[in-house]
Amino acid sequence: MRSVLLRLTRSMKLRLLLTIFVPGMTLLIAAQFSMLGFYRSRAVSVRTSEVQTQLMSLANHLINYDYLRDPSSESIGAELAQFSSLYNGRVLVIDDMLKVVKDTYRMSEGKTVVSADVVKCLRHGSNGRSSYYDREEGFITLYMPIIETAALEVGDYSERAQETEIVKGVLLASVSTASIESTCDYLQRMAMLVVLIAGVLLGALSIVAAVLLVRPVDRLARSVAEVRDGFSNQQVPKYSYLETERIADGVNGIVDRVRIMDESRQEFVSNVSHELKTPMTSMKILADSLIAENNVPEEMYKEFLTDIAQEIDRENSIIAELLSLTKLNRKNAPMNITQVNINELMEIILKRVRPIAQKRDIELTLESVRDVTAGVDEPKLTMALTNLVENAIKYNKEHGTVTVTVDADPRNFIVKIADTGVGIPEESLDMIYERFYRVDKSRSREVGGSGLGLSITKSAVLLHRGTIQAESKEGEGTTFTVTIPLNYVQRAADPAAGKRA
Ligand code: ADP
Repeated sequence: MRSVLLRLTRSMKLRLLLTIFVPGMTLLIAAQFSMLGFYRSRAVSVRTSEVQTQLMSLANHLINYDYLRDPSSESIGAELAQFSSLYNGRVLVIDDMLKVVKDTYRMSEGKTVVSADVVKCLRHGSNGRSSYYDREEGFITLYMPIIETAALEVGDYSERAQETEIVKGVLLASVSTASIESTCDYLQRMAMLVVLIAGVLLGALSIVAAVLLVRPVDRLARSVAEVRDGFSNQQVPKYSYLETERIADGVNGIVDRVRIMDESRQEFVSNVSHELKTPMTSMKILADSLIAENNVPEEMYKEFLTDIAQEIDRENSIIAELLSLTKLNRKNAPMNITQVNINELMEIILKRVRPIAQKRDIELTLESVRDVTAGVDEPKLTMALTNLVENAIKYNKEHGTVTVTVDADPRNFIVKIADTGVGIPEESLDMIYERFYRVDKSRSREVGGSGLGLSITKSAVLLHRGTIQAESKEGEGTTFTVTIPLNYVQRAADPAAGKRA
C-alpha cells in the first residue's frame, strides 16, 4: 500500500494536476476572503459616516431646542427614539459636566460618564469626534460633540465678528452592525458555493490538462517499450514536445547503434565462418584426392601433406589474428604503458621483416627526424606498426621501397610508412579498416592476408588515443600516417590507471 502511494507521488500526471489545482484553489479562496473583508470594511465605513451625519443633525437640533438644559422636548425625545430604533442602537446625551441627560435605554440617566473619548470630544470639539467598530460584539460606537457656534467680538474697534465653537455636550451612540454581519454571512455562504463549484470545475480541468499534457510522454514510453520488447525496430516517433523529441532522438540513436552492432556481428560471424571454411575446404579436397587414389607415390603424399600443413598454418594465423582483435576490442582492454624509444622500436620491427622484403628486393629505410620516447603499450604498438610495414611490403612492387619516418610535434609522435606499391583506390580508403575487407581478395590471399591486419592496427592506435590516416595513388603507392600522443592520457575507469610510467 505504501509503495503504491509512493509510486503515485512520483506520477507526472499527479504532479501536474496538483501544480494546476493547488495554486488555483488557493487563489480562489484568497480572493473570496479578501472580497468579503473588503465588503465588510466598506459597509462599516458607509454605516459610520451615515450615522455620523445623523448624529450631527441631531446635535444641531439639541442645540436649537436647548435640550441639555431642558430635556423635556418631546420632539427631540421622539427623534432620539426614532434614531435608536432605526439603527437598532442606543443614544446617550451627555452634558459638559459628563452627566447623562438622556439615555434611550433609560439606564444611565443622571449618572456621570467617565470616558476618555467623551473628554476628548469636550476638549477638541469637532476634531474630537471618534468612532470604533467592535466586530466581536457587532456594533459601532460613535462620539459626536454637541457644538454651539457663537459670534465673538474681536477687539473694541473691530466691527467684524469671529465665529467660535462652544462644546455643550457629547452624543454617545452605539449602533448595531447585525445587518452587515448577516449580509456578510450570506455572501460568505454564496462565495463558498461558488468556490466549491469552481473547485470541482478546476479539478476536472486539472485532470484533463494533466492527462493531455502527459499523453505524449505516455505514448513515447509505449513506443520505447515496443522497441524494447522487440515488437518493433522502427524509429521511435518524436511526439509534440522538445523534451520528448530529445528522448526519442536518444532512443533512436541507441536503436541505430544496436542495429549496426547486430548487423556487423552477423557479418563478422559469416565472414569468420567463410574465412575459416576456405582452408578447411582445401584440406578436404587434398585429403579426399589422396584417399581416392590407389598406390599414390610417396612424393605426391609429401606434396599434398605439405599443402595441408600450409592450410593449417593459414587457419592458425587467422585464429590468432581474430583472438588479438577480440582482445583489443574488448571494452577496457588493459593498457600496460611504459616509456619506449619509438626509433629503436621501429628499427627492431624493420629488422624482423627485412628477410621478407629482401625476397622481393624491396628496400626498407628508416628516417628518424626526431628522437622520440613516448608512453605506449609496447606489444600493442609493435603489432600495429608491424602490420603496416608488412602490408607496405606485401602490396609493393618488385624492387620497390618502403620508407618509415619517425617525427614528433610538441604533443604527439608521428610514424609515416610510405611504399611504392599498388596503391588503394580512392573509394576503398574508408573501408580498409573493416574486418575482412580486402581491395583485391585473390591478391590478398596470395600474399597471405586475412583482411584483419588493418582492423587490428586501427584498434591498437585508438587504444592509444591516436589516429591513423591513409593517402594513396593507385599504381604509385600508399602512405599510412599514425599520430599518437607522447603521453598516454588515462580516462576515468581506465584499467591502465596506476600503471602509467
Ligand atoms: P590483409 O590481411 O588482406 O592485408 P589488411 O586489413 O591488412 O588485410 O588490409 C586490408 C586491405 O587493404 C588489403 O587487403 C589491401 O587490399 C589493402 N592494403 C592495405 N595496406 C596496403 C598498402 N600498403 N598498399 C596497398 N593496399 C593495401
